[in-house]
Amino acid sequence: MTEIRDTVILGSGCAGLTAAIYTGRAGLKPLVLEGHEPGGQLSITTLVENFPGWPEGIHGPELIDNMKKQATRFDAAFQLAHLNSVDLGARPIKLQTSVGEIHTRTLIVASGASARWLGLPSEQALIGHGVSSCATCDGFFFRGKDIAVVGGGDSAMEEALFLTRFASKVTVLHRRENFRASKIMLERAIAHPNVELRTNTVVQEVLGVDEKDVHGLKLKDVKTGVECELAVKGLFLGIGHEPNAKMFTGQMDLDEDGYIKTAGNVLTTQNGVVIPGVFACGDVQDRRYRQAITAAGSGCMAALEAEKYLEAVGH
Ligand code: NAP
Repeated sequence: MTEIRDTVILGSGCAGLTAAIYTGRAGLKPLVLEGHEPGGQLSITTLVENFPGWPEGIHGPELIDNMKKQATRFDAAFQLAHLNSVDLGARPIKLQTSVGEIHTRTLIVASGASARWLGLPSEQALIGHGVSSCATCDGFFFRGKDIAVVGGGDSAMEEALFLTRFASKVTVLHRRENFRASKIMLERAIAHPNVELRTNTVVQEVLGVDEKDVHGLKLKDVKTGVECELAVKGLFLGIGHEPNAKMFTGQMDLDEDGYIKTAGNVLTTQNGVVIPGVFACGDVQDRRYRQAITAAGSGCMAALEAEKYLEAVGH
């Protein structure tokens, strides 16, 4: 007979690992399914300067590694696997995963969010050939080259500043006049001699599909309608993220952009009614704050709710 676990945690970013530390310490022996992007967004970021406790900052991968070690110390188990489908109506909850069927009394969804793309055919054709959504992964390949970053938020500014370590020039292309980025990040980008900010500009096409190598962008000024070309060897996307919750469609309330709707912080619902034993935390349910510390906080809340639920049903 298939073993019934007390807690399965979907996702191994900041929220999932915090939930693993808490449920592990509560003796629930959580199983963490690490998903497509183990470690989540922190594992591909650079210096995290705003996570309390590290006055000089800490690198995202190191922070994640520390959290994983901490969860392992409390008997959390890790499995490199992803979810194919789920039956949230069954008790125990049934998960069909890439490593087989798993049964669990509680499920903590911490599946995070993945990078968003512009959706241009030329962009999609050139992913891995000069188009990337991960500056820390791919920046190294652009040593001494001119590149562009799309976006007007903190991610775009962070990517642009990081890429100046390699690129000779980084042009940030933003579709509006005003930036969404925080003042401090925007000021750093403006002050950097190798960063140029271009507003009211959209990318219409990435050039280089035939050569399988980016050599430029076709741009349009949305105010004047004027089109031009920008010679760059790389394009990085910093335009936000999509929540990884599609697999719950029809079984859980999602908002219009696909984020999990939660009641009482981390309780999931279906048609407004709480789904017992199923909790959501981190970026998959947070469209407002999306910070490492808020993800950790909601991971803690989900774990405490899972514990309370198991106690109430007598486990
Ligand atoms: P974001 O704040 O949602 O910004 C996304 C940017 O991409 C916006 O400027 C948006 O333009 C633009 N955009 C979206 N779709 C686009 C499209 N199809 N074409 C062109 N442009 C598009 O996302 P984020 O920058 O990833 O930040 C998310 C959260 O993480 C924020 O709370 C941020 O503070 C945080 N964060 C913090 C740090 C840090 O403190 N070091 C680093 C990274 C992220 P519009 O402005 O026109 O909507």
